[in-house]
Amino acid sequence: AQKRYADLRDLPAEDRSGQVVSLMMNAGLMADLPSLNGSGADGVGLFRTELQFLTRSRVPRRGELAALYKRVMDAAGDKRVQFRTLDIGSDKVLPYMKPQDEPNPAMGWRAIRVGLDKPGVLRMQLQALLRAAGGRPLSVMFPFVATPDEFHAARNALLHERDREAALGRIVPEDLRIGAMLETPSLAFAQDSFYAACDFISIGGNDLKQFFFAADRENERVRRRYDTLDNAFLTFIERIIVRCQHSDTTLSFCGEDAGRPIEALTFAALGIRNLSMRPASIGPVKHLIRRADLVELRQVIQRARNTGAQNLRPAVTEYLASL
Ligand code: PEP
Ligand code: MG
Repeated sequence: AQKRYADLRDLPAEDRSGQVVSLMMNAGLMADLPSLNGSGADGVGLFRTELQFLTRSRVPRRGELAALYKRVMDAAGDKRVQFRTLDIGSDKVLPYMKPQDEPNPAMGWRAIRVGLDKPGVLRMQLQALLRAAGGRPLSVMFPFVATPDEFHAARNALLHERDREAALGRIVPEDLRIGAMLETPSLAFAQDSFYAACDFISIGGNDLKQFFFAADRENERVRRRYDTLDNAFLTFIERIIVRCQHSDTTLSFCGEDAGRPIEALTFAALGIRNLSMRPASIGPVKHLIRRADLVELRQVIQRARNTGAQNLRPAVTEYLASL
C-alpha cells in the first residue's frame, strides 16, 4: 500500500467526474516540513504555532519566532502555509502562564479570547509573521473565533501591524490573506458581512464537533459516541459550505476527520475543495478520491437523506463497496 500511495504523490486528487480536491497537510514544527514534498501535499493548511510556546520556560522572543516562521516559509517554497495564531488555554497550558483554574477550559479563556484580552503576545506574533514573510504571500488565521467582532478585532490588529511595519520601511506582503477558524457553531449563523470579510475559513472539526454534539473531545467515554457522518452534523457542515460559496470565501477543513478517507470523501462530495490533514493521510485520501465519483456520491447521500437516514455512513460505505 505504501508503494501505491508513493506512486500517487505527483498526481492530483481528482475524482472520476474531473473535480479536483486540494489536499494539504497540518504541521507545527520545522521537522514536519520535509513531509510537504514527501507526501505530495499542496501546502500547509494548518500550521499550529503552540509548540514554540509550550516547549520554553518563557515567552519566545519575536526574533526567534520570525526566524522559525521564515524557515518554514523557505522550506514550503511556492506552496502556501496557513499560520494559525496561538491557541493556548483549554488543553494547551503554558508553563509560565498563571493557571486559570477554570471549570470548563475548552469553553474558557483560550485562543483568540486570550489574544484580544492580552494583545501583547498576539501583536508580537503577528509582527514575527510579517517579518518572516517580507514581500512573500502570507496567510494568517485566528483560532476559536465565536463572533464577527472577534474576527474584525483580530484582523484589524494584523492590518495595523502591517501598516506599522510598512511605515518603518519594511517590505510587507502584498498578498495577505486573513481567515478565521470555524470551531464554534455560532459562526455558521454569523451575518453575511462576516463571510464576505474572511479571505478564507477553515473548519476546525475537532472543536466544532465537540461543541455541536456537546461531547468533550478529551473524554474517552463520549468522544466517539457521535458520528461525523450523522446527518445533523453533515447538514450543518453543508450550511457552512453554501454560505462560503455565496460569499466566494475559500473553505477548508482541517480537523482530524479530514484525514479519515470516508469522512474526507464525504466532505468533498458535499463541496469542500480543500482538506488539511496529517501527511500520512494524504495518500489514502487521494487514493479514495481518485477511485470515486463525487457527483454520484452526492446523489447517494441525497437519496439516503430522502429515505430519512439519521446516519449517512452506511450509504457512503455501500457506495464505496460498489466501486
Ligand atoms: C480543530 O479544532 O479541529 C483544530 C484543527 O484545532 P485543534 O485540534 O488544534 O484544536
Ligand atoms: Mg481547535
